[in-house]
Amino acid sequence: MSNTLHDALFAPHADRSDTFLHLPEGGALSHADFAAMAARFAHVLTDAGLDPGERVAVQVEKSPQALALYAAAVQAGVIFLPLNTAYTTDELQYFVENSGAKMLVCDPGRADDLGPLAKAQSATLHTLGADGTGTLADAAASKPDRYDTVQRGPDDLAAFLYTSGTTGRSKGAMLSHANLLSNAQALKDLWRFTEDDVLLHALPIFHTHGLFVASNVTLLAGGSMIFLPKFDQDTIIAELPRATSLMGVPTFYTRLLDDDRFDRDLVSNMRLFTSGSAPLLAETHRRFEERTGHRILERYGMTETNMNTSNPYDGERRAGTVGFPLPGVELKITDPDTGDTLPQGEVGLIEVRGPNVFQGYWQMPEKTAAELRDDGFFITGDLGQIDKDGYVSIVGRDKDLIISGGYNIYPKEIEVVLDAQPGVLESAVIGVPHDDFGETPIAVLVPENGAAPDTDAIAAAVGEKLARYKHPSGYRTIDALPRNTMGKVQKNVLRDRFGDAG
Ligand code: ATP
Ligand code: MG
Repeated sequence: MSNTLHDALFAPHADRSDTFLHLPEGGALSHADFAAMAARFAHVLTDAGLDPGERVAVQVEKSPQALALYAAAVQAGVIFLPLNTAYTTDELQYFVENSGAKMLVCDPGRADDLGPLAKAQSATLHTLGADGTGTLADAAASKPDRYDTVQRGPDDLAAFLYTSGTTGRSKGAMLSHANLLSNAQALKDLWRFTEDDVLLHALPIFHTHGLFVASNVTLLAGGSMIFLPKFDQDTIIAELPRATSLMGVPTFYTRLLDDDRFDRDLVSNMRLFTSGSAPLLAETHRRFEERTGHRILERYGMTETNMNTSNPYDGERRAGTVGFPLPGVELKITDPDTGDTLPQGEVGLIEVRGPNVFQGYWQMPEKTAAELRDDGFFITGDLGQIDKDGYVSIVGRDKDLIISGGYNIYPKEIEVVLDAQPGVLESAVIGVPHDDFGETPIAVLVPENGAAPDTDAIAAAVGEKLARYKHPSGYRTIDALPRNTMGKVQKNVLRDRFGDAG
């Protein structure tokens, strides 16, 4: 039987005896053992009555078994729905109800909490712990290690991936086999992944970055992964010498740069560092090159589309930009009011079209209609611009745009100035209500070394660099910016907290 994703990612390696996952403390799992594990899980799914197209919701710690469950769902034609491990029972209720999942797999420690929820949905509840044990493994133990792969075509759904909920309630993006495979193919080619690659994998696998970008690209290339439960500085330092690539979020890189052990020698075997999910500061990019000789390759994507753009492998990796549209992906900058394409260089909404673009939001026809145009372009909600050489840069989110007295203010432009001031570790600029102007920007600063920054001096510096209407009308300090588990700054939380400060 043909199964678009399974045939490309998993089937080719099913008989290989070499290592697929290098595990902490010297452990390893071969490709063949991974395939056998996935096949047994696929039997558990099918025997529990999950028909092709039904959903399995999975909230578990990262483990080889958790990844094998993804492979199992693909093989059984079941839609995989991974969930952030930070979600509470109430939050989970939304995802399980919204998706209509027929099976819920959770950590053994949460089974008591989630039992009633699963029952109310008539969903089977299984457990899977960080060490791979639980009722799922028990049920799988007696199953055959081969499974007759369920037929799935390019347009069949492979996963529901809920967005990170940075700007509001998470939405379930429906992703087809072809969505996932086309993106893995584009990235594997562009980033030159081969079976010799050893990817240092320290990202969560409930998100598009760790699950699809990192794992699918490695699988398609037939490489292996050093599969770590999380980003642990000492482990990363210990593992870097045998890795060839690392895919990270910006905080990975700032943390590594803070470590004296991180130097050129340590990364002599590495060929590629990529960054995404949140903006990488140009400063980090520069310091990284100084320290290691490597230029971090920044790329841009999202739950609904996987990756859209990437800096080049061979050409200039330009700091502060996310590079060019991927082969097969069209990208344009449009006027938020009219939808018309804007001239090169202007800031507007980023819209994308291509084989990577999702099929719509599950059970949200209005949201889908509002964001996915009839001609196939997806309105990303990000504001950006394209420079004369074709490099795309992200200016911020449409929802974070501040309109003050009729002027558009892009918070990032002010944040870049603030971040460069003495005593400021980082900053966020938000719009708060204002009687005359509608909105006014205020700056939220995170002090360096805990000492209160000199806001008069900062205001003076801002005054020299930026037009008057962009000057923050107030300065606040905060110990740390609120971030979600993907490291994204939650400006809605800041707006709630400082909303009456204007
Ligand atoms: P929600 O849609 O629920 O509000 P979210 O948009 O944060 O949440 P994700 O799909 O995880 O959910 O994140 C995609 C977003 O992450 C992009 O739309 C963009 O704003 C941001 N992003 C990704 N890569 C980059 C990057 N390299 N630079 C700047 N922003 C990035
Ligand atoms: Mg989003």
